[in-house]
Amino acid sequence: MSVAAKALAALAAAVALAGCSLFDPGSPSSGSTVLKSDFAALAEDLTTTLEAKDEPGFAANFADSTMAQELAQRWYGNLSQVSVATFGTDDEGSLEVTWAVPASQAPAVHKVVPHLAKVDGRAVIMDAMYTDDPPIWYFDDVSVDNSSTVSLIASETVSADQRQAWLKRAAKAVKTVKKAGLGMLAQDWNDRLVVEIPRNTRDFQLLVGIDPKLSGAATECEGGAIRVVVNPASLQLPDEQAEALIVHEAVHAATGSPCEDSGALWASEGLAESVTAKAFKSTRESNLATVTTYLAESGVPAALPVDADFTSAKEVIWAAYALSEVAVDAIFDNLGTEAALDLLAKLTRTPDKVDAATNAEVTGWYRKALEEIAAAK
Ligand SMILES: [Zn+2]
Repeated sequence: MSVAAKALAALAAAVALAGCSLFDPGSPSSGSTVLKSDFAALAEDLTTTLEAKDEPGFAANFADSTMAQELAQRWYGNLSQVSVATFGTDDEGSLEVTWAVPASQAPAVHKVVPHLAKVDGRAVIMDAMYTDDPPIWYFDDVSVDNSSTVSLIASETVSADQRQAWLKRAAKAVKTVKKAGLGMLAQDWNDRLVVEIPRNTRDFQLLVGIDPKLSGAATECEGGAIRVVVNPASLQLPDEQAEALIVHEAVHAATGSPCEDSGALWASEGLAESVTAKAFKSTRESNLATVTTYLAESGVPAALPVDADFTSAKEVIWAAYALSEVAVDAIFDNLGTEAALDLLAKLTRTPDKVDAATNAEVTGWYRKALEEIAAAK
């Protein structure tokens, strides 16, 4: 699933604004006032001490309190494992943290609102709140593991065995998706994946804004960068289901869909299911069973699944995924690979460029495929 709900982000922003105390860029210099220049110097020192692997120097940018020093320890411990992390400031008093891991296509930029004080002539961080779209390293102590094609950022509560298993699954998913030949849809992909596993389902919900009961994993556009976020509940999945789950998400990551898609969900979700179903017999069979049950109860639908179906009741959601696979497979069957990918690129990114006649034709192929499934039963 690639839907990124914004309700939680808005809530987080409201909490941050209520709890923070911004620096005062306009006030005259005085001993206890944090000036904009003090804040900029703080950000620069955070960057240089982190880069120099100077943990005491990094921690000196935080107040002496236990809470502030714990924050320093967490940020240093987490960000010293990534490949790039720099701190900047904006005019609203946020720290802008730019960070990347080896598999990143592009760095992520996250804003964190620090509560500052001036101690001995320099700004120090007392506490911090995230604004929205919080990064995983903000919540928890993480371990970063890298292979040649995958960076895995997992909560320290995830066992080393689990981390290795998911690193391998993700690397396998990269190969499966490369082999699927998504052509122009994946032309900007770096053939790598960044995967995150948060500590618990609450953190999963905070990271991706999706009900953890409805989603085993989600691919999101996090601070401008694509991340596959695995629901910790999925750590219990049997191996093949776990592999299929990450292949589905890898299709979203490869096609850049969370950062780029503006079209109908049936097209992007149908493509992810279509690639997954070709690689895994279990996905193929379970989607076919779902479609067969749907057809027996509701008959052949007049139209393609709508976006609301993907955030509806569980049964409606499962049916929407399986039906979308039928729609996308029908496009491939009727157009051939190259023309199908061209149409899917338009359907997912620039749906306005798909004319009514083409849309009607796709609906016709979809309904015909469903009629065949119903007849074959
Ligand atoms: Zn999806």
